[in-house]
Amino acid sequence: MKRFSGKTVLITGGASGIGRGTAIRFAEEGAKIALADLNTAGGLETAGLCEAAGGEAIFIETDVSCEQAMQDFVESAASRLGGIDVLFNNAGFPGAVGPIEALSVEDWDKTFSVLVRSVFLGMKFSVPHMKQRGGGAIVSTSSIGGLRGYAFGHAYSACKSALLNLTRSAAVELGRFNIRVNCICPGQILTPMAGGDHSDLAALEADMATRQPIPRAGRPEDIGNAVLYLASKEAGFITGEIITIDGGLLAG
Ligand code: NAD
Repeated sequence: MKRFSGKTVLITGGASGIGRGTAIRFAEEGAKIALADLNTAGGLETAGLCEAAGGEAIFIETDVSCEQAMQDFVESAASRLGGIDVLFNNAGFPGAVGPIEALSVEDWDKTFSVLVRSVFLGMKFSVPHMKQRGGGAIVSTSSIGGLRGYAFGHAYSACKSALLNLTRSAAVELGRFNIRVNCICPGQILTPMAGGDHSDLAALEADMATRQPIPRAGRPEDIGNAVLYLASKEAGFITGEIITIDGGLLAG
């Protein structure tokens, strides 16, 4: 019996990068997965990769910042997969980057909608299903940018920091319903969002080696493995926790 056989997992931002890598890891462990993303081609491709890896997967085109779209995603996923065990709030983008006086209010609000409102919406609509099932696990993707200042990425940094306390406050409320809520803070992970085509991987990893104890860039599956652990019964006494996965970058 595989570790997540019969379990249902909702993943936002599943068309690419960390979301895709995590979806494939859940699929390898036998999960049924619902993917939400704006990118339909990428989402359908991830669903195919999940099926090939041994899981079941559906893709639902969704703008995670839109209340109605998130409600539709969660309700449709719950009815098609048969309930919700795990929610991975992961969709994201870098937001507007620049000096604070040049950051527009529209860009500030959009960044908060995609990075923070989406996580609130995912929780709001999934929690009733988890309560009905007798428990569940929620994991959200923050960033090392939420643990320290990120020059010129003011909105991103503020959003990722907001997720730390949303995680803690939800964990405090939901523990008695057997719903655990945790958060991960990736360092530099090789995904399209991290920039570049990564064609000169050797040069990138040599650069990482000068900055962090583990001398390589992270892979989506490095994050996926941590998400699987936090969603698993082995992590049954862990809630309200923030796990940094950065090759030791912030360690010293
Ligand atoms: P990515 O660009 O590969 O994947 C992000 C996905 O989110 C894309 O498929 C994109 O289409 C989707 N998305 C963006 N806005 C959306 C919206 N409004 N509705 C639905 N889907 C939307 O990037 P990634 O690196 O895999 O990023 C995943 C998460 O990890 C993000 O929250 C990001 O902030 C975080 N993160 C990434 C790194 C890194 O180095 N890659 C480091 C720290 C944190």
